[in-house]
Amino acid sequence: NKQVVLKNYVDAGLPKESDMEIKESTIHLKVPEGSKDAILVKNLYLSCDPYMRNRLKNIQGSYVAPFQIGSPLSGYGVAKVLDSTHSRYAKGDLIWGITGWEEYTLITAVDAVFKIQNTDVPLTYYTGLLGMAGMTAYAGFYEICSPKKGEYVYVSAASGAVGQLVGQFAKLLGCYVVGSAGSKEKVDLLKNKFGFDAAFNYKEEPDLDAALKRFFPEGIDIYFENVGGKMLDAVLANMRVHGRIAACGMISQYNNEQLDAVHNLIYIIPKAIRMQGFIVTHFYHLYPKYLEMVIPYIKEGKITYVEDKADGLESAPAALVGLFTGRNVGKQLVVVSHD
Ligand code: NDP
Repeated sequence: NKQVVLKNYVDAGLPKESDMEIKESTIHLKVPEGSKDAILVKNLYLSCDPYMRNRLKNIQGSYVAPFQIGSPLSGYGVAKVLDSTHSRYAKGDLIWGITGWEEYTLITAVDAVFKIQNTDVPLTYYTGLLGMAGMTAYAGFYEICSPKKGEYVYVSAASGAVGQLVGQFAKLLGCYVVGSAGSKEKVDLLKNKFGFDAAFNYKEEPDLDAALKRFFPEGIDIYFENVGGKMLDAVLANMRVHGRIAACGMISQYNNEQLDAVHNLIYIIPKAIRMQGFIVTHFYHLYPKYLEMVIPYIKEGKITYVEDKADGLESAPAALVGLFTGRNVGKQLVVVSHD
């Protein structure tokens, strides 16, 4: 059983491929005798997610526990059930949810997985569009932002797993949508593939405040926050009265030893801005409702999804650390096996 194992913690700074290593272990491909309500799965696709950065830190008390040194990482993935002692799962079922960064995993926390019912869509979508990232975009946009037709929406890290969906949901609702991303290729995707009204490369904007004023001369109604730091500061100064900010993530801060100061928070008072953080898992009860909305959109071609597929478990460490330099174009996943 090939595994991606954590070698050492990285409390600050960019994580490196060499902070993880590939190891082999043996595993019996059956749920062990006496293990009730467990499934033994073959992992097909693994999802690389920014929150995993926190689990590479040896910091207790975070909302996610640190990975264990010498043990395989874990995260969201798509897998096939090989053996089951759980009444809800049978051999051959497909699931998405928390699994190991390895070829085969014994899952005892079956509450953290969902059975895949719709298989007439690309299965990889359950690492993103039809999985955790999709639910994040859905809950963050519809539940947290209270969006209305015609509003001015800004999305940062807009070409990523979550951002590309937020932009498309906002367009479907009839909003004016601008996204930012870190390369020309990504900016082109935003405009030409995802249908954003406008997009810019934040790395080429020496003055973010001026850039936002150019794209939003009348201000921003909704900011879907993925990056934090300087971007958040510039946005706060450009929000409209009664604007809403969904604080989804702040990836620019995840490698920092010291968090950047936010200077413009005071604007939330006179502008009566509502800024709200959220954790996607608190919205998983809405998953059936989300599927009902999004599967027809996918089939009608109204929602599209760009994935960045790394090939083989050996490529997983590089794929994960690449999130923090913007190497990924679209949703980053790792193909462990196609069946
Ligand atoms: P992405 O697919 O967007 O990948 C990460 C991207 O972030 C990179 O490609 C890069 O894009 C950008 N980035 C990396 N470092 C920086 C930096 N220093 N400054 C600005 N941008 C940077 O990731 P996801 O869509 O999966 O996640 C997006 C955000 O949503 C993250 O902050 C994540 O933590 C958060 N999240 C929150 C959840 C919740 O429950 N609240 C659940 C899921 C995700 P670029 O080239 O454009 O810079």
